[in-house]
Amino acid sequence: MASYDYDLFVIGAGSGGVRASRMAAKYGAKAAIAEEYRVGGTCVIRGCVPKKLLVYASHFGEAFEDAAGYGWDVPEPSFSWEKLIANKDKEIDRLNGIYIRNLKNSGVEIIEDRAVLKDAHTVHLVNEGRDVTADKILIAVGAWPFTPDFPGAEHVISSNEAFHLKELPKHITVAGGGYIAVEFAGIFNGLGAETTLMYRGPKILRGFDEDLRDTLQDEMIKKGIKVLTNTTIAEVNKCKNGRLEVVMQDGDSYETDCVMFATGRRPKVDGLGLENTGVKLNAKGAIAVDEYSKTNVDNIYAVGDVTDRANLTPVAIREGAAFAETVFNNTPLVVDHSIIPTAVFSQPEIGTVGMTEQEAREKYGPDGITIFKSTFKPMLHTLSGRDERTLMKLVVEKETDKVLGVHMIGPYSGEMVQTVGIAVTMGATKAQFDATIAVHPTAAEELVTMKEPYLAPVARAED
Ligand code: NDP
Repeated sequence: MASYDYDLFVIGAGSGGVRASRMAAKYGAKAAIAEEYRVGGTCVIRGCVPKKLLVYASHFGEAFEDAAGYGWDVPEPSFSWEKLIANKDKEIDRLNGIYIRNLKNSGVEIIEDRAVLKDAHTVHLVNEGRDVTADKILIAVGAWPFTPDFPGAEHVISSNEAFHLKELPKHITVAGGGYIAVEFAGIFNGLGAETTLMYRGPKILRGFDEDLRDTLQDEMIKKGIKVLTNTTIAEVNKCKNGRLEVVMQDGDSYETDCVMFATGRRPKVDGLGLENTGVKLNAKGAIAVDEYSKTNVDNIYAVGDVTDRANLTPVAIREGAAFAETVFNNTPLVVDHSIIPTAVFSQPEIGTVGMTEQEAREKYGPDGITIFKSTFKPMLHTLSGRDERTLMKLVVEKETDKVLGVHMIGPYSGEMVQTVGIAVTMGATKAQFDATIAVHPTAAEELVTMKEPYLAPVARAED
């Protein structure tokens, strides 16, 4: 039997790779993990975690205003971007340290280098200039922001750079209409930047429930974000005054201080040496894997965003754990990607799990589902006077009474969806929701007190 330097070599120390290597080591594998940048990956270093900190920061702008209705006399607040970024960086350094410590404590060797596949069992470490061999290889290198090519594309940034801007732009343009675009538009607007969101389609957050899309777009506009739909950026030019000129598809133009693209992320497969192993990509350019995260090469696996299944940290973690269970603990485990609770930290926040009304209508027919819906002013905003609506919605299968989907937009929706996600994952029925005693006074109690069907679902034009 061939002998290798390692039982497992993981490329990429992000959420999926770290979980897989730690668990494999726990099960007795000699494991190493290579990371070319910083241990923690996108989520910890330049994604979910720093983003959430900036979201928290941006909420204070409204909170100071809202405080007046509750009797507080708040002097004119001032904000320091520099201080926020420095504090955020300190926290990211701390988390990075914890990740490194956890890996070491689990017995995983950390190799700070770029790893390139030389063949199915050999990895070349670029800076160290040496090769190592491994029985199993796990690719967990994630994804990278994608920016379309257009004249002046070199002047725009992605979310990677947004976390390190020297100063808060006075005016910013965010291109895209997905998770990152709506979250960052809310952050910049909340911190006081004049914000324009530019989306190529008619309505942001394609793929989400229509009611969430409508409500968020309306609320963002009410908060002062300029939402331009059905248009894209054709050109960006550097002006003499240091600002940027944005030229839109229709020829209209305006000046802005910063343009951030959030137009999706692509699996980071370039330069990995996949061609030396025969590992195949799928039609979307992601590493093709089976239900056990195995590629077409028997000893090479891949998890997380590089496989482009559901590009979310907890999914990558689950895939990494299932890989370790399957390969190093003799317990074959398949990750169920069918029901994934998720939050969008937009303002207001979104929490969603299960089928949208549109998906359910397609699957069960217009008469096969019942919709329950509640829109209201959250109690928080009775005294604050803020004109912001909360929406909660249940999609229920008529025949089985099963709750197929729960969709919420409003304060704490991201927190609520974690718990209601348990019920939906368990296949709870509407009757079981109704039998649950309400928690009062909360917004969440609406989930168990919606008695009357909203209306028979009517066909709406998809966009
Ligand atoms: P998304 O795929 O969510 O959105 C991409 C957006 O860019 C869409 O609105 C898309 O439009 C638009 N777009 C794509 N290509 C072009 C183009 N050539 N020109 C103009 N617009 C374009 O990607 P994000 O970058 O927002 O986020 C990446 C992933 O990261 C998400 O899918 C999500 O899984 C994850 N994420 C999760 C978060 C969370 O859980 N809270 C937070 C942030 C990211 P269209 O809809 O028309 O295709």
